[in-house]
Amino acid sequence: MARTTTSSRRLFARARRVLPGGVNSPVRAFKAVQGEPPFIARAAGAHVTDADGRRYIDYVMSWGPLIHGHAPAGLTRALGAAVKRGTSFGAPTPLEVALAERVRALMPSLERMRFVNSGTEAAMSALRLARAATKRDKIVKFQGCYHGHADGLLVQAGSGALTLGIPTSPGVTKANAADTLVAGYNDLASVERLFRMHRRKIAAVIVEPIAGNMGIVPPQDGFLQGLREVCDRAGALLIFDEVISGFRAAAGGAQAVFGLTPDLTCLGKIIGGGLPVGAYGGRADLMAQVAPEGPVYQAGTLSGNPLAMTAGLWTLSKLSDKLYRCLADLGARLAAGLADAACDAGVPLQVNGFGSLLTPFFSNRPVRDYRAAIHASTTDYGVFFRAMLKRGIYPPPSQFEAWFLSAAHTERDIDRTIAAARPAMKAVARS
Ligand SMILES: *Cc1c(COP(=O)(O)O)cnc(C)c1O
Repeated sequence: MARTTTSSRRLFARARRVLPGGVNSPVRAFKAVQGEPPFIARAAGAHVTDADGRRYIDYVMSWGPLIHGHAPAGLTRALGAAVKRGTSFGAPTPLEVALAERVRALMPSLERMRFVNSGTEAAMSALRLARAATKRDKIVKFQGCYHGHADGLLVQAGSGALTLGIPTSPGVTKANAADTLVAGYNDLASVERLFRMHRRKIAAVIVEPIAGNMGIVPPQDGFLQGLREVCDRAGALLIFDEVISGFRAAAGGAQAVFGLTPDLTCLGKIIGGGLPVGAYGGRADLMAQVAPEGPVYQAGTLSGNPLAMTAGLWTLSKLSDKLYRCLADLGARLAAGLADAACDAGVPLQVNGFGSLLTPFFSNRPVRDYRAAIHASTTDYGVFFRAMLKRGIYPPPSQFEAWFLSAAHTERDIDRTIAAARPAMKAVARS
């Protein structure tokens, strides 16, 4: 069958000549689902429209920031007004004070904070601060957790015993990777082992309290509490990377849901409401060590940008208990519908979810850790994904990513999605 040329295909060809892989962030290229990405021209509510005028129900939602949907009218009005007052000043503004106060009201563990431009910067800066504050070099991260692309975080467990990390990307030096120790998510014993092997050397444990970057994997009972205790015993800091879970698991993030207080927290995604914002913050005595108050250097030309702060303020001002109840209902409806569709087609599927986050793993075993997550079939996911996209549903283009729901998704959207999932699951069964 001759493929018709579409605007998206032409754009992708042009894009590949000027952008590596045709994109500005790898997952967008659809390599994990053997496809070519539609180029998005506009979006509203729960829907995106591509350059060829095709409309999709969107479950990527910019990878999490858009908890109120695409381009809500209140946000576009607020941004329109803000842009007329100037786009960047490189000087303090009332907006950043207001946003910091609002974040602290929602997440009291962030006694003080610093705004940056991305989750990557937030994690990188929080780790620098943790190392400075503890005067220790090593950090512990978990296999399958993602904290942005700073050198020391692009590291996986070395073979054999969980000891020194090895780089997952060329260009990351062995020295950089050597200070990153890698443990198993939901495996407290692996963390305790690292602490025994590296006594008084570990500055911090950084964790996604609800893992979202190997697909959704919620923490097992006692895991996060155990991390808190291990860190306290060893004089290490506990850093929650709540770039996804912050303002998503609840207004107060996963730390509110699980009743735990990290020393430092990384934020991103929802905090910018679709504009580039990240933040790190926590205990006042730690944050007092950040320049200019303290010696730990960290800066940003566009940090606290007035448009970005405006989007963050509007987004956080619209969070409510009712919103989280509605999102959780939609999430449960979608999870149940996908599971049913798979069951009827005879396709083994495990749907992991947490409120408005979910991941259908094409696997016959429960997914509670990284090893089980990567056991899922990327081939089956690819078949499913392409069948969904053809039917006007846009799931994340990788098995190992979260689906994001927003306030703009309706029961009708969910039901249309489930209706599309039925033939898509049959296509998986046939493949
Ligand atoms: C997305 C993400 C990051 C990185 O944020 P960017 O804004 O893409 O740099 C860090 N941590 C987690 C948990 C994330 O999901």
